[in-house]
Amino acid sequence: MLIVMQSHATEEQIRNVCARIESLGLKAHPIPGSLRTAIGITGNKGAVDLAVLETLPGVVECIPVSKPYKLVSRDAKEEDTILRIPAPAGDLVIGGDKIALIAGPCAVESEAQIMAVAEPLAKAGVKLFRGGAFKPRTSPYSFQGHGEAGLKILAKVRERFGMAIITEAIDNESLDLVEKYADVIQIGARNMQNFSLLKRAGRARKPVMLKRGMSATLDEFLMAAEYILSEGNYQVMLCERGVRTFADHSRNTLDLSIIPAVKQRSHLPILADPSHGTGLRRNVLPLSRAAIAAGADGLMIEVHHDPGQALSDGIQSILPGEFVQLAEEVRQIAAVLRRTVN
Ligand code: PEP
Ligand code: MN
Repeated sequence: MLIVMQSHATEEQIRNVCARIESLGLKAHPIPGSLRTAIGITGNKGAVDLAVLETLPGVVECIPVSKPYKLVSRDAKEEDTILRIPAPAGDLVIGGDKIALIAGPCAVESEAQIMAVAEPLAKAGVKLFRGGAFKPRTSPYSFQGHGEAGLKILAKVRERFGMAIITEAIDNESLDLVEKYADVIQIGARNMQNFSLLKRAGRARKPVMLKRGMSATLDEFLMAAEYILSEGNYQVMLCERGVRTFADHSRNTLDLSIIPAVKQRSHLPILADPSHGTGLRRNVLPLSRAAIAAGADGLMIEVHHDPGQALSDGIQSILPGEFVQLAEEVRQIAAVLRRTVN
């Protein structure tokens, strides 16, 4: 259910409607828009007579939302959600006419490795640096990440180069730590339907990047995001990272068609990860171009200064110099779409 407020409704009227919703044992989610505020209602398990809400001052109408996802839907909020990630060297804006480039190695391997990658990326204008400290690996014998020690190395990157940090949380325990050290919390493909982790991310005070599960449908993807918003965290961006198909020429199939499909249904920004989406260094550039052309709000790219020695995902990691070329091409494609890379 969605309550649409009048365009001139006062703060007090909005607060009053929220209080009435909460008094019915439901949760109210005020969603401010440029024209009007809508208030999403969640938590209604059975039929609750909400007609009374329509009589409150400032309310235009109550609209039943038939889609399984409510808060992430364009019905709840017509305009694009635009995220602002604060960074000492300058804030990063994601969504609207702004395109974001996120780059860094797959994993935090050592301080020397991280600094060797971070320095040229900071020079290339990257504002959000990635690197996994908790690695969800297929094999228990593969490098699992350095945990909190890795997060401390990432925090040094912010201090030294002014970039914000995004890193993955793999369970509720690591999310506590990631929330403490990082600027953006990443939920990986393997955890897209880890509902307790999604709820915990929804209670976090930092923005979340939710990656698409490798066999998730569009609805499942949006429902996973709904979990986060339903707990009160509206700072969510999505990321297409490739799905499993019969194709065996690449690690995954980057499903670019989900980008316009998400944009039609949801106000949340959606980025693309052509590194995991292709699994091959030489395909990262062409799929990056294509993702931006398809309307992606940004890219997440794995970069390593010495990919041959990488402890994870070396074959899909590009060199810092290659990233500079990629960023330049993306800027030019963005300009055609009247968007800017920041
Ligand atoms: C990653 O970004 O390092 C990662 C593990 O990605 P995904 O969850 O998409 O596999
Ligand atoms: Mn990786």
